[in-house]
Amino acid sequence: MKIPFSPPDIGELEIEKVTDVLKSGWITTGPVVKEFEDEISKYIGTGKAVALSSATASLEGALRILGIGEGDEVIVPAYTYTATASPVVHVGAKLRICDVAEDSFEMDLSQLGTMINERTKAIIAVDLGGIIADYDSLYEIAIKNRDSFTPSDNPIQRALGRIAIIADSAHSFGASLGNKKAGNIADFSSFSFHAVKNLTTAEGGALTWRSIDGINDEDIYRELQLYSLHGQSKDALAKNKAGAWEYDILYPAYKCNMTNIQAAIGLAQLERYEVMLQRRKELNERYDEAFSKHGLKLMKHYEEPMKSTGHLYLVRIPKASEEDRNQIIIDMAERGIACNVHYKPLPMMSAYKNMGFDIKDYPNSYNQYKNLISIPIFSKMTDEENRYVIDTFISCLKNRSLIS
Ligand SMILES: *Cc1c(COP(=O)(O)O)cnc(C)c1O
Repeated sequence: MKIPFSPPDIGELEIEKVTDVLKSGWITTGPVVKEFEDEISKYIGTGKAVALSSATASLEGALRILGIGEGDEVIVPAYTYTATASPVVHVGAKLRICDVAEDSFEMDLSQLGTMINERTKAIIAVDLGGIIADYDSLYEIAIKNRDSFTPSDNPIQRALGRIAIIADSAHSFGASLGNKKAGNIADFSSFSFHAVKNLTTAEGGALTWRSIDGINDEDIYRELQLYSLHGQSKDALAKNKAGAWEYDILYPAYKCNMTNIQAAIGLAQLERYEVMLQRRKELNERYDEAFSKHGLKLMKHYEEPMKSTGHLYLVRIPKASEEDRNQIIIDMAERGIACNVHYKPLPMMSAYKNMGFDIKDYPNSYNQYKNLISIPIFSKMTDEENRYVIDTFISCLKNRSLIS
């Protein structure tokens, strides 16, 4: 049996909607994108949402709209993908990397507290695997440090009056905490619709935000439209009105808009999304049941009141060294199962080493990484495939005496 890591779940509905857009003659940003944005904000419960070309562009959009740049500092966890950190570098702010707490995938709050100073403008947390991070504690830290917060000349920074809390929600579209959905918990949240993510538009992303006292949601939306489309004062939608040809360029902006084709895929995915999430939950629970007996360390995706998206299934093997773990990935590949590691911590990557970060300063992140394996989970996975992954994984671990 051959089991890929995370194939997209594309059905007839996606094909139909994309075909309609292709036949409509309007393939780039237009009414289908607006419809997708409306559906996203309705689904999450925010006033607005903006669809962009990626989560990376969405996160950068959040930083730019907050006026974060040179002279500012932004804190991110060591245990994440590069796209959580690279936008901080793109806007010219100083990147600060915080270790995770012991035996945890989330930032060590006491270390985080010591990293904050009057230049700190934002903290970015990651909803790893679809599990919503502990934003209550981050808000608490931001409020505690209110007096040292020095806003730049930016209306949102001034209105917040504290460090902005940003969510890298690349994995958590559809996750909820009680009656609140991811996207409506942090000040700003960036979602990814990349091909391997739970809900895909092939490539794509979205930014949502909680309404801010004294700031109009529509103003944020308009700013993000300018940011994503050359700073052009009229988008293609407005320009389409009879006789309206003229536009202005307000500043030399960026190009990271979403197309109608992508939005059509997204609308179809959204219609089928609850079923897709439910399937992930079933698969996740079967893995939990099979692996919990063997002393393996698992994440809790569905612990009231939190409901994850079940995006990733991470297993830590307490007895495994880094070499053992790498060997298990090869053993699994030889049996047709594609596995991964989420994530090799940022300070182990050349880009961040070159900035002076050293994994020796991030022992907890290293310990989370060294014995971790990410096994396949995707909404199209059959019961038979699920069983095969369970049986194969257990037998590979037994063969190398990593479980009894
Ligand atoms: C996929 C991913 C991103 C980036 O998403 P893009 O849409 O490819 O920009 C960011 N953060 C995390 C944790 C991711 O897994």
